[in-house]
Amino acid sequence: MTKLSIYIHVPFCRRRCAYCSFVSYAEREADIPAYTRAIAEEIRLRCVDGAEIKTIYFGGGTPSLMPADSLKEIFKAIRTCYQIADGAEVTLEANPGTISLEYLKSIRSVGINRLSLGVQSLDDAELGLLGRIHTAAQAREAINQAREAGFTDLSLDFIYGIPGRKLDDWRKMLDEIVTLGASHLSLYGLTLEEDAPMHHRVKLGELSAPDPDAAASEYELAEEILERASYQQYEISNWSLHGFESRHNLVYWQRTPYLGLGVASHSFLDNRRIANTSSLDEYLSCLSEGKLPPQTVEVISEAVALSEAVILGLRLNEGVSSDDIKAHFSIDLYGHFANEIAECSSLGLLEEQGGRLRLTPRGRLLGNEVFMRFLA
Ligand code: SF4
Repeated sequence: MTKLSIYIHVPFCRRRCAYCSFVSYAEREADIPAYTRAIAEEIRLRCVDGAEIKTIYFGGGTPSLMPADSLKEIFKAIRTCYQIADGAEVTLEANPGTISLEYLKSIRSVGINRLSLGVQSLDDAELGLLGRIHTAAQAREAINQAREAGFTDLSLDFIYGIPGRKLDDWRKMLDEIVTLGASHLSLYGLTLEEDAPMHHRVKLGELSAPDPDAAASEYELAEEILERASYQQYEISNWSLHGFESRHNLVYWQRTPYLGLGVASHSFLDNRRIANTSSLDEYLSCLSEGKLPPQTVEVISEAVALSEAVILGLRLNEGVSSDDIKAHFSIDLYGHFANEIAECSSLGLLEEQGGRLRLTPRGRLLGNEVFMRFLA
């Protein structure tokens, strides 16, 4: 039976954060019932016959704005088309400013078994700067509520490289983060796209730009403190306690098929990448008429597939297996990329160990320097 993962994009947010460049809409929560029906319709129209679902991920946006009844309706639609595997990982991203104990219990009862909380910082001034809708106290409370509601698989997101942060403050924050006891942690460096309000403030001179050296120091400190606290890093931005890696995100890095549903979602199916329209109105209007929304489809060439396999594989701490590359592409990894590997190795960014090519700790800091050399 074909194994498949499902990503569902929930594009609603209470308010846009100051650093955000995701596809999300503020003040459109009234559209959630129509969006739920649209997702159910898209599931019906894009049914992949005979597939078994091994992971489901509600990402956003702010999926925790979806009532449990909406999630239930979506699960019902999924079940009319697919069999959900026993023990499937079902994640929902939640904003600490939108949840309550009652809500968390209700979503657990309809099938969410993994919660990913966007905490981002435990400092109120930083949360204000980022334009988050919650305080640090609300984030701590949300973590307690998640535990009380029975979420043993709990992931927390944090941002490093926030302008003005002192390394010692980040050290104290990391010391607190490890005491929170989450099973999974994601740390992302702050990047500001042109359309982000914080980027505008940087341009006006009101705010310093994120400093890459400060971000690198914070990242290295996080690696050290998290490792001491038994968190195993398994990907450039992700750490977990043993056995709690995100099975859904591994699908992306290992290039296994997934179906993306909803506004601006992406799918990887039959060697094609398919992107749905990022217009909420267009999406709702098409599905209400029983038609698929506009999509762009890219057929992945062999050269691009190889490049993706190497770049995505290098994101993982275990690296890329030369045997896997041989099996999938009938090429010798070390021969085909001899120049790129030699150059990155001489810069101390790549190393080979036990038939696997992987980033060194320095390579993880400068991942893009390595990845650009492997682009098709
Ligand atoms: S909650 Fe996430 S998606 Fe929504 S505005 Fe903030 S950063 Fe963007």
